[in-house]
Amino acid sequence: MNALLSVSDKTGIVEFAQALHALGIKLLSTGGTAKLLAEQGLPVTEVAEVTGFPEMLDGRVKTLHPKVHGGLLARRDLPEHMAALKTHAIDTIDLLVVNLYPFEATVAKAACTLEDAIENIDIGGPAMVRSAAKNWKDVAVLTDASQYAQVLADLQASGVVSQKTKFALSVAAFNRISQYDGAISDYLSSVQFGDGVPEGAAPTLDLFPGQSNGRFVKVQDLRYGENSHQNAALYRDLYPAPGSLVTAKQLQGKELSYNNIGDADAAWECVKSFNTPACVIVKHANPCGVALGVDALESYSKAFQTDPTSAFGGIIAVNCTLDERAALQMSKQFIEVLMAPAFTPEALAVFKSKVNVRILQIDLPKGGDKPWEQGRNFMDMKRIGSGILLQTADNHELALSDLKVVTNLQPSAEQLKDLMFAWTVAKYVKSNAIVFCKDSMTMGVGAGQMSRLDSARIASIKAEHAGLSLKGTAVASDAFFPFRDGLDVVVDAGATCVIQPGGSIRDQEVIDAANERGVVMVYTGVRHFRH
Ligand code: 5GP
Repeated sequence: MNALLSVSDKTGIVEFAQALHALGIKLLSTGGTAKLLAEQGLPVTEVAEVTGFPEMLDGRVKTLHPKVHGGLLARRDLPEHMAALKTHAIDTIDLLVVNLYPFEATVAKAACTLEDAIENIDIGGPAMVRSAAKNWKDVAVLTDASQYAQVLADLQASGVVSQKTKFALSVAAFNRISQYDGAISDYLSSVQFGDGVPEGAAPTLDLFPGQSNGRFVKVQDLRYGENSHQNAALYRDLYPAPGSLVTAKQLQGKELSYNNIGDADAAWECVKSFNTPACVIVKHANPCGVALGVDALESYSKAFQTDPTSAFGGIIAVNCTLDERAALQMSKQFIEVLMAPAFTPEALAVFKSKVNVRILQIDLPKGGDKPWEQGRNFMDMKRIGSGILLQTADNHELALSDLKVVTNLQPSAEQLKDLMFAWTVAKYVKSNAIVFCKDSMTMGVGAGQMSRLDSARIASIKAEHAGLSLKGTAVASDAFFPFRDGLDVVVDAGATCVIQPGGSIRDQEVIDAANERGVVMVYTGVRHFRH
């Protein structure tokens, strides 16, 4: 009986080889393994001696030879196979012990380079394992030190490895190869060239094995989480969608914090949903100003007016080139994070001295009629005590034709435009969300209240503080008004048209109120809770 031993992880190999030797089994081995066994006084033949070829190309070619694969693959029950071995002076290999180059351990190291990873892709090892595992009836293939004991027990009991053990070893071998190739494919897929995202390690989180969505690689540890006593890290999708925040290139500024990333994502996702120049300013995950304009300067200036107090220390995103004029205007306020798909050199020069401002360049998703629809998450998740809640992401896109006018009054074209704008913004405001808008600009945002009425009141109070008049505004409510009181508050504040999902048992009461107050109301038929 011949055994070929070729292991990277040499744990237990000497003892195992000694036991095989004691059973009269002839030992064949590759360079490093052979050396170790010989040092322990074991008689061992180097594979190079058998093949007549030296190990070469830095070990890339050691065992890839018909003398090895013929010995592994020949069917002992077929006379032609055995005759072929004889013709070519090939000995059978009846026991194969291989564990592979430590690819997974190599890429798990933070300092691992692409080159390190490539050099740790084992070629000959898996080839031998596959040959032996395919020919499991005749060859026992061991791919892990934990299997040594069982094989020895079989050999010591009967002089052979049982069919049952060999089959189990074959299955384990193919599992190992599949896992190994999976790790290589995951790692290589995660490598991104020159975009600032570190060459990633293999997925460290695999929430939905077998699906590309839900497999994550660690980008970096963060200084702390939402609060300083919490630890945190950023993971990104193994295959990040173009146009998503995790593909950002940081051009300057301090390291992003956990809250920066959360807020930046909220701003970026919102600004991405407009296909004309837009600006979104976010504080504590809520937009505190959103506006459309002819360019970055105009949209920013309008967005800022919504709530200058909250905009302080805010996260700003524009979906168009940020030029010097916009940069000069923005630089008057304290900014945590600034995002745009492109910056002019002059704009970047404006922020050069403001070293703390984190500037992110993020490509917008391209192509198609609605490029902003690409690069969206497919699944959403939320951690709860001892569980996770999963849902498909809220990617509903409202079309004008979806709107149902429920009042006697019909909306004007201008009102429709503002209603659609308000609705888009409301989707990104934490529930209960009430958003007043006019001329493609938010005029008051009420977010995150337990009562819709309070969100409505807060939105109008904030508008008043910002010195904005809500007269003639459009209002979006992310979910239906359960009573007429919410509607009364927004109409009292000056709104003349309202967009909401509808669907309350008191819809009629609210429609009657809208007619009585002489305002327009349209239904969307969908709501956008965001918690
Ligand atoms: P050793 O330390 O014995 O020199 O090398 C053992 C390692 O080499 C094992 O992990 C085994 O899978 C691997 N190996 C065996 N044959 C080949 C080959 O032909 N090419 C490559 N790249 N690796 C091999």
